[in-house]
Amino acid sequence: MVVGHAAPEMESIYNFINGETTATAKQLDVYEPAVGEVYAQAPASNANEVDLAVTAAAAAFDGWRRTPAAERARCLGRLADLLEERIDEFAAAESRDNGKPLQLAATLDIPRAVTNLRFFAGAAEHFASEAHAMEQGAINYTLRQPLGVVGCISPWNLPLYLFTWKVAPALAAGNTVVAKPSELTPMTAYLLSRLANRAGFPPGVFNVVHGEGANAGQAIVDNPRIKAISFTGGTVTGERIARSVAGSFKKLSLEMGGKNPTIVFADCDFDDMLATTVRAAFANQGEICLCGSRILIERPLYERFRDVFASAVSALRVGDPRNVDTDQGALVSKSHMNKVLGHIDQARKDGGTILAGGQRIRPEGRCRNGWFVAPTVIDGLGPACAANQEEIFGPVATLLPFEGEDEAIALANGSDYGLAASIWTADGSRALRLAQEVEAGLVWVNTWMMRDLRTPMGGMKRSGLGREGGFEAMRFFTEARNVCIRYE
Ligand code: NAD
Repeated sequence: MVVGHAAPEMESIYNFINGETTATAKQLDVYEPAVGEVYAQAPASNANEVDLAVTAAAAAFDGWRRTPAAERARCLGRLADLLEERIDEFAAAESRDNGKPLQLAATLDIPRAVTNLRFFAGAAEHFASEAHAMEQGAINYTLRQPLGVVGCISPWNLPLYLFTWKVAPALAAGNTVVAKPSELTPMTAYLLSRLANRAGFPPGVFNVVHGEGANAGQAIVDNPRIKAISFTGGTVTGERIARSVAGSFKKLSLEMGGKNPTIVFADCDFDDMLATTVRAAFANQGEICLCGSRILIERPLYERFRDVFASAVSALRVGDPRNVDTDQGALVSKSHMNKVLGHIDQARKDGGTILAGGQRIRPEGRCRNGWFVAPTVIDGLGPACAANQEEIFGPVATLLPFEGEDEAIALANGSDYGLAASIWTADGSRALRLAQEVEAGLVWVNTWMMRDLRTPMGGMKRSGLGREGGFEAMRFFTEARNVCIRYE
């Protein structure tokens, strides 16, 4: 990121602090990945802007926590309505900012952001706590009270989807928020912040500060008035944040990387499995933390799977995200594209066979300088190779054969990560056995990425700490206080 000077045609993004949009002296260039050019300028906030936002959020907290849950729910619901009225505008903005197909933004990202806001509007009113009666003549009840000012830090891959997944429960539970979207994809969080006043949020309740992770992000993490950090992003960043907050004992929720296995048994429904496995590996250019990038195939099915899968992947259409028939758009940044290409080169050096893709793509026309990588399938690598261990977070899937359940489990668990797994088999008992043995916070059987927002979402091992979703998120954003009353 560099300091830039906005050309007249540049779009401008502003912070949203205390109910007002504000600019910073220093700005960051924001790129359109599909064309490889700067199209907007965003604030390069630092600790000063974060402190202004925290001051506003701290001042607003007492009023917001005393606001009836029904009114908090109404604000979230109105924000959902305002967003839903603008799905096309937001989808176009998300696609331009991130490089993802417009169609995907219009059918997945923005509708899901609407759903997140509405879902947690409901949660605000339905959240309840426990009571424990004691035989000795006393009753306990648990209060779950908002924490105060909380920090929400989100990544670039599903920008508004993951941003709302954090801010909605935080606000629903009665906290005030200082949120920072990724500096690579700040646009839709900015557009959403512009709707906050109309939705009825009092000034200071919902603040959005833009900027780089090392500056604005770290300032949120380090700010002593922020009581909790909800972070989604890379494991290295999560580790750094965990170290930073260790001494202050802030509440911490970390949703981090994955190297998720798709486990395919020979008895599965082949056509269903194939279509979903292609989607699981390559949806959103493979830039979803839940993507199944490590495909384990039972030996008797291996050759058939390899050939059909490679040709299905080669048929994916890569190109201008605006085209309705585009399956895969651009990667989010030039450096991310180079990182993905570096992983593919390393896989070649390690002796892997490239069955599909393997190179940069330069589409015709306006996208010729965009950051596109052909969907890539690699086999012939051992489980310890970098391509089978490191999160690539791009359109690259590896294939590995296995014999029997034990080897499938050993391969699936032979990773530092533990976010998600998808198991394909017609044998119900086997599915249940594996679902208990595979080290993953989310296990799908004969499906992928079916999400019920009430369920716990998160990873084990180096994939995460804590869970989001449903009342798990409401519990994270509240402090439990037990009250014990003796009546005898
Ligand atoms: P990243 O870690 O680089 O950045 C994520 C966010 O953290 C950004 O807003 C960034 O500005 C901020 N940040 C960076 N350094 C910081 C610091 N020192 N202090 C505070 N904030 C800081 O991740 P990314 O590249 O944006 O996203 C890709 C990663 O996110 C992948 O590893 C992916 O697996 C992971 N991810 C995980 C989930 C999940 O639910 N587990 C979901 C989506 C993405």
